[in-house]
Parts: sequence; structure tokens; C-alpha cells
Amino acid sequence: MIKDSYNRRIDYLRISITDKCNLKCVYCTPSKGLRNFADAEIMTDGEIVRFVRIAHKHGLRKVRITGGEPLLRKNILDLISAIKQTGIHDLSLTTNGILLPELAGELKNAGLARVNISLDTMDAERYRAITKGGDIRRVLAAISEAERAGLSPVKINVVPIRGINDDEILSFAALTLEKDYHIRFIEFMPVSSGETWQKEKCVSAAEIMEIISPLGSLESYEFKGKGPSRNYRIKGAKGVIGIISPVSDHFCGFCNRLRLTSNGKIRPCLFSKVEIDIKTPMRNGASDDEIEELFLKAVKIKPERHLIKENMDSPDRINPMSKIGG
Ligand code: SAM
Repeated sequence: MIKDSYNRRIDYLRISITDKCNLKCVYCTPSKGLRNFADAEIMTDGEIVRFVRIAHKHGLRKVRITGGEPLLRKNILDLISAIKQTGIHDLSLTTNGILLPELAGELKNAGLARVNISLDTMDAERYRAITKGGDIRRVLAAISEAERAGLSPVKINVVPIRGINDDEILSFAALTLEKDYHIRFIEFMPVSSGETWQKEKCVSAAEIMEIISPLGSLESYEFKGKGPSRNYRIKGAKGVIGIISPVSDHFCGFCNRLRLTSNGKIRPCLFSKVEIDIKTPMRNGASDDEIEELFLKAVKIKPERHLIKENMDSPDRINPMSKIGG
């Protein structure tokens, strides 16, 4: 078990396995000027698995695969299975769902425990507009297939944005009355080169709570292990509502994670530009001990808290989520 300089136990790694995406969500990907990494810049399966194995020796228990769109990666099933074999206890993946319907069963067999599926609207036309061309029927099929495959509980990520989909907050929350989904509202964060971002468009956790209050009293619902999500259950509901509020109320005191970008940089905090390159040393023949040193350094320099609020208006905000790994 490893702790950082602020006594937080670091046991969770989010790995971006590609920066490519098959959707271009208006709030995530800038419409121009974004260059994808060349194939040679992307970590290989062997490099990713090697890093996970080294981190696992220091108590890494939880891995989430993300991107870009992780299901675009060739041999995704082999990669999932190799990561699982390092001994990772809890292996999950965040996806837009477009490629999931045909892969859900195989992903489960390869060792994946759960999926988060991103869905910001239940309206087909609006979905097409937000994602710049996505077909919502694929995502709805993905949710059913994930349930059928036992990739559960199925978590649905919703980013409410004022004037775009905030009128659907109540109906997303109401889904939990009948379905055992976990609906996770994520505050709109100031990432990307700022086409959609305006701080007025961020619907705060407090507003979300207010909007869903007509559905009934909310009971606090805790999961094993601390995470950024504050979780609630409407009295009598089957599912759970989670609210993640990095903007209005940072949760850094509970942060247990590091990120590994698709081009091989460890990022101790999503909102800091500080990164530690592990791919170059690996390709230059670094030993496991040397990579371990870099992992330990990343844990050590993890900042106490992020500075989203302070940097919200800066034109030099952090890279789009597709580049870092959402
Ligand atoms: N392609 C996958 C997907 O769509 O879930 C994984 C990558 S995506 C970057 C991961 C998550 O980041 C999605 O749920 C997306 O809604 C969220 N995201 C992207 N940009 C965001 C922003 N500016 N604020 C909050 N969440 C954001």
C-alpha cells in the first residue's frame, strides 16, 4: 500500500489507451486544431501491462480503461485480459457505447467487471447534435448488452450543460426509480480549448440536487472505498444517483488516483499539467526498478488539490479530456 505526501492511499489508475474517438462531443473535443498522436507515440500493450504490474506491487487495486474511445483500440480484449492477469482486483472501462453492443460479452469474459457509458441526452436528435453525428440507438443497445453480459452495475455518465441538456436532469435521475443503473452527473469542467466552456454553463451539484428533489427524499448511499462521487438513492428506488462536483466543491481529499495518458505520461492530477514520462525511459531500456522510481515520484508529487476554480478563466486551460483520458 502506498500513500502520497498528504496521507492519501493511492490505489487507482486510470489508463487512457487511445486519444482517438469515434464521436466529437461538443464539450469534449475542439472542432479544429486537435492532432491525434501517431501510432508510434501510443503506449503498446506490453508497456501498459508492465507499468500496471509495477504499480500493482505497490498496492494498485483498481484500474479504469478510458480514452479517447477505448473500444477503438485493436486487440482490446487481449489488453483487458493481460491487465486483469497482473492481479488487478477491480477493472472497469468508460466508453461512449457505440462499439459496445457486440463486445460486451467478450469484455466480461476477458476480465472486465463494469462499464461506465456516457450518455448526455435521451433524445436522438439532440444526441446527434452533441456528439456530432452519433446514433443513440447504439448506446441504448450498449446499455442493454452490458446488463445482459453482467457488466454491472451499469453506470451512466451525464454531463449537464446549461442550455444544452439541463432540462433532462430530472428524467435521468428518474430512471433510477425502475432500473438499477447508477446515474452519475458530472459537473461540466473547464477543459479543452474552450469552445463550449463558459462557467455559466456549468450546472452545480447543488442545482442538480435541487432539480431532482421532487423525486423524493434522497438517502445517502455509500460504496466501498472512497471516490469522488457523492451517492444517493431516492427512497424506494432500484438505482443510485451519483454527483461528481470537481468544480463547485473539489473532492481532492478523497483522491486516490493517478492517470496514465495514451502517450505514456503519468499525470498525478487531472487538472495539473505536471506529467512524468515513462514511455521514453521504457523504450530506452529502463529497468523495472527505474520505472518503479518514476511511479513513486508521481505519487510523491501529487498535489494536495486541483486549481480548477483559480484557473477557470485562463485561456491556457488543460488539454481536452480525449488527450488526457477522461
Ligand atoms: N470515449 C469515452 C466516453 O465517451 O465515455 C471515454 C472518454 S470521455 C473523455 C470520458 C468522460 O469524460 C465522458 O463521460 C465525458 O462525458 C467526460 N467529459 C469530457 N469532457 C468533459 C468536460 N469538459 N467536463 C466534464 N466531463 C467531461
